[in-house]
Amino acid sequence: MLRPLLLVLGLFAIVLLVGLLAIVGFGDDPDADEPTARRVSQPIQLALPIDCDLPDRCVVQFHVDRRPGLAVGDWRCGQLSYDTHRGTDFRVLAKDDFVAGIPVLAAAPGKVIALRDGMEDIDVVELGRTKVEGRAGGNQVVIAHEDGWETWYWHLRKDSVTVQQGQTVATGARLGTVGLSGDTNFPHLHFELRRNRNLIVDPFDASAGDDQCRSPPQSLWTKSAAAALNYIPVVARLGFTTRAATRNEAIYGRLPDPAAQENVPALFLWFELYGLARNDEISVQWQLPGGTWREPAQSAWQQDLPYAFQTGRLNLQPPLPRGTYSVRLKVSRDGNAPPLLEKIYSVTLR
Ligand SMILES: [Zn+2]
Repeated sequence: MLRPLLLVLGLFAIVLLVGLLAIVGFGDDPDADEPTARRVSQPIQLALPIDCDLPDRCVVQFHVDRRPGLAVGDWRCGQLSYDTHRGTDFRVLAKDDFVAGIPVLAAAPGKVIALRDGMEDIDVVELGRTKVEGRAGGNQVVIAHEDGWETWYWHLRKDSVTVQQGQTVATGARLGTVGLSGDTNFPHLHFELRRNRNLIVDPFDASAGDDQCRSPPQSLWTKSAAAALNYIPVVARLGFTTRAATRNEAIYGRLPDPAAQENVPALFLWFELYGLARNDEISVQWQLPGGTWREPAQSAWQQDLPYAFQTGRLNLQPPLPRGTYSVRLKVSRDGNAPPLLEKIYSVTLR
């Protein structure tokens, strides 16, 4: 009578063991021998939080400052940041794109734990900082993910937030539209990654402390996001005008437009670049109506500043002939490598 019972118990034990192995996934998963706790606390994987072509239509203008209070330093030991900046700023380059509306997307699956909407889209320099005190993020969404991770999405457009408090969202879910609300003076998404509420983590390199230039960096971006996120100089603003310009005049549109007048006395290019390193070569080459290219004017960047504002004059006797004038703007880092940036801009005089 004992033997059948032992047989049943033995079979039961085998079934139990096979079942357990199936649950653990033994054998076919390379990560299976890791303890469950380690697997659960794996770093978060982030998709792009913005639906915009990088770097043609949108760019990363500022990274996390890994050395707050000290000299500015981004994860590449570069200066594409500013002191105490806690997130990654995705800038919308063209005004038309900004007006049409660039979607802001959930970077990972999670649950909406905070949001705000209803603040106006006004440049904070015009509005005044006191008006956004305590609401620097403007219209915003905060998503909680597994393992204490949080992603914050700031400066969204007024009345654009499309999710609700407590809502569960998948990766890529639309949260709102890039705006100009809160403490900002340029159209961008400030994307912030946090852990356990208050720890700021740089998604480009999640290693702790102010370590910089680690090789390889501990990136939290998905493969496709990482491929889109080039680290290159950024043309934040650029335009043509008829006289030497200051940065403020250029930013706030207080410069004469050569395309809007006749008998233009002189033609100037102005531009603002971010992400330069010392010794980067900036090259400006003019093309006259009819197609003749002038010799490029080149200069090596010699300052430890995160950005350059420059103007360049076309050397030509007034009045300037009608037609289309172009400029090839180029930034090179290593003389032998392809340029980091090469773009052509045009203006037509009538
Ligand atoms: Zn920011």
